[in-house]
Amino acid sequence: MSPVLRVAGLSKHFGGVRALDDVAFELAAGELLAMIGPNGAGKSTCFNLVNGQLAPDAGRIVVLGRDIAGLGPRQIWRLGVGRTFQITATFGSMTVAENVQLALISHRRGLWSPWTPAAGLERERALELLALVGMAEQAERACAVLAYGDLKRVELAVALANDPRLLLMDEPTAGMAPAERQALMALAARIARERGIGVLFTEHDMDVVFGHADRIMVLSRGRLIAAGAPAAVRTDPQVREIYLGADHA
Ligand code: ADP
Ligand code: MG
Repeated sequence: MSPVLRVAGLSKHFGGVRALDDVAFELAAGELLAMIGPNGAGKSTCFNLVNGQLAPDAGRIVVLGRDIAGLGPRQIWRLGVGRTFQITATFGSMTVAENVQLALISHRRGLWSPWTPAAGLERERALELLALVGMAEQAERACAVLAYGDLKRVELAVALANDPRLLLMDEPTAGMAPAERQALMALAARIARERGIGVLFTEHDMDVVFGHADRIMVLSRGRLIAAGAPAAVRTDPQVREIYLGADHA
């Protein structure tokens, strides 16, 4: 099967900093691929190149068979690339359902005519997505009053609104307690596997990474220094040096 994401020779520098240096990898449908590495390794840079927020200096990014060179974030999103966003204070006063409906309406606008309201349809679909992430009972609560772990589940529902084939999650569990982190990634993994969504994610908690990733890539100073199945990466001498060395976080 052709990969949902193919990256080759990807490089990006900021002034003298080589944030990403000749990185190549592929991601298959239904696969969970973790990108790990110390702070400043280039993980977010890689995510922002794939989602179109940054343009590469060199290299190719192919999403669902299409080279995304020159496309902006919205166009890439419409191709079927979802990403988790933090629901900020601006949207906190809206209900859980409204937040998801907003994402759905935004998606439909891109696909259909701008005067197709279909509000009822969007509400139904929003409730479906909320049921998928276990938040249906809290649909009418304001996002601002949710427990942090529940808010993260709403963010996942929002990320699924465009029916993505590729889902990008840059530190989706930031700020969560360990048990909640495991639960959120287990949920994301189940949905991804059921729907054949390829997931690229970063995560600081190694228990979460090794517990849920099918494959792991390790970045260090912009370069991929290891990639493979969790068992192989865990025993890689260079990886051990980075993670078990002096600056083990
Ligand atoms: P990570 O997500 O792995 O912590 P980043 O991709 O955020 O790493 O950063 C990689 C390197 O690029 C770091 O040295 C960082 O300081 C630098 N960097 C990232 N974004 C910018 C930017 N917009 N301007 C300048 N330097 C940046
Ligand atoms: Mg980062």
